[in-house]
Amino acid sequence: MMNHTYEQLLEKNKKYLWNPFTQMKEYLQDEPVIIARGKGVKLIDVKGNEYYDGNASVWLNPLGHNRPELNQAIVEQLNQIAHSTLLGAANIPAILLAERLVQITPGRLQKVFYSDSGAEAVEIGLKMAFLYWKHRGRPEKQLFLSMKNGYHGDTLGAVSVGGIDLFHQAFDRLLFPTEKVSYPYPYRFEGTVEECVEACLSELQQKLEEKADHIAGLIVEPMVQGAGGMIMMPSGFLSEVEKLCRQYDVLLLVDEVATGFGRTGKMFASEHEGIEPDIMMVGKKLTGGYLPVAATLTSDEIYDAFYGDFQEAKTFYHGHSYTGNQLGCAVALANLDLYEKENVISHVQEMSKVVERAFRRFDELAHVGEVRQLGLMIGIELVKEKQSKEPYPWEEAMGVKVCRKARDLGMLTRPLGDVVTFMPPLVSTESELKEMVDILYRAIAEVTEG
Ligand SMILES: *Cc1c(COP(=O)(O)O)cnc(C)c1O
Repeated sequence: MMNHTYEQLLEKNKKYLWNPFTQMKEYLQDEPVIIARGKGVKLIDVKGNEYYDGNASVWLNPLGHNRPELNQAIVEQLNQIAHSTLLGAANIPAILLAERLVQITPGRLQKVFYSDSGAEAVEIGLKMAFLYWKHRGRPEKQLFLSMKNGYHGDTLGAVSVGGIDLFHQAFDRLLFPTEKVSYPYPYRFEGTVEECVEACLSELQQKLEEKADHIAGLIVEPMVQGAGGMIMMPSGFLSEVEKLCRQYDVLLLVDEVATGFGRTGKMFASEHEGIEPDIMMVGKKLTGGYLPVAATLTSDEIYDAFYGDFQEAKTFYHGHSYTGNQLGCAVALANLDLYEKENVISHVQEMSKVVERAFRRFDELAHVGEVRQLGLMIGIELVKEKQSKEPYPWEEAMGVKVCRKARDLGMLTRPLGDVVTFMPPLVSTESELKEMVDILYRAIAEVTEG
């Protein structure tokens, strides 16, 4: 594997590989990065170039690459067994990780259902909520309420509750119908933050007033809409959403796939407002960014609605081949051990102050409309005209150009339209973070003003 040159690998990429979320024509015409190794917060390509992993390998990697403790956990598990099924059977790490997840998540969540990706965890949560009401004798509660501009993954059920037109609109005819309400986006709201919150809450309340009898649940990205552009809820909003769900008897499903495991400065973003969701989806950082394990957590109340004699026909018929994979669960346990041992959450809280200070001088940049940050989850919204907040024409692909420049300067990250994302590994040190932010500053200055 190591003996191939860059040119040979690129040729094979061109011939055999279709990359996700990638326009292959542009990708192959550029000089794509082909990664060979990882070390700490850096990625090293087959030519020997080093880059900061500025988006933690698309929001996954919390503790750095090639961590001996995580590698070791996989090797130890591998010497026992790699995988056996969780369908009608169990395994050691899957059981122990379930216990661990219940311990660290909000109180109402008492049962863990595994899958392999965030999108699947979302599908499972939707199916659970849907059948919960059926088993409870309220089959008319079938609709889902979700947020405009939301993102929950790319499978069709997850796309149905998504709301990013660029990704989702093309599949319209394949999706089940949902109800949508606005997520607060103060930067693009004509009025004060308070008015923005007020408008969104009254829209939600009105929708519930009209349709709650037919709504199974509300699904939301707590505190931050990630793929939608790092859009952040003003404080107080999330707890009001929870109150409305309770008031109208609608299940609250929170998608913590991006925000979970410390990204926003709390173990889970739900903790910022002390909410108690009925269903929570986690994935991404769960395994330290090593292996694909995701999970849907639910309350005992939901679990119990499915619990009964076989003849009652309440079995939850859902599963994937690799559900509860031992290697994945073992590395997830080791990952969570390291979170404790290294006080990762308090490190994130400290570093987020460092990053906030480092971003202050971005105010000077003529084309930075807003820098949004919660913990180490950061989005920089680029605009053509700062005063009027006029966006760049999308064809200009300004976000793409800035990230391409950042790559030349030694850091990899990806844009969401004209929002440049900065999601460093959680263990990044002060000096590493300062260097990464400096690369972003130079990339934005050179591309937008150069
Ligand atoms: C990434 C993401 C997903 C999808 O997870 P996959 O593992 O890519 O399927 C779902 N929800 C949110 C909020 C995400 O950021």
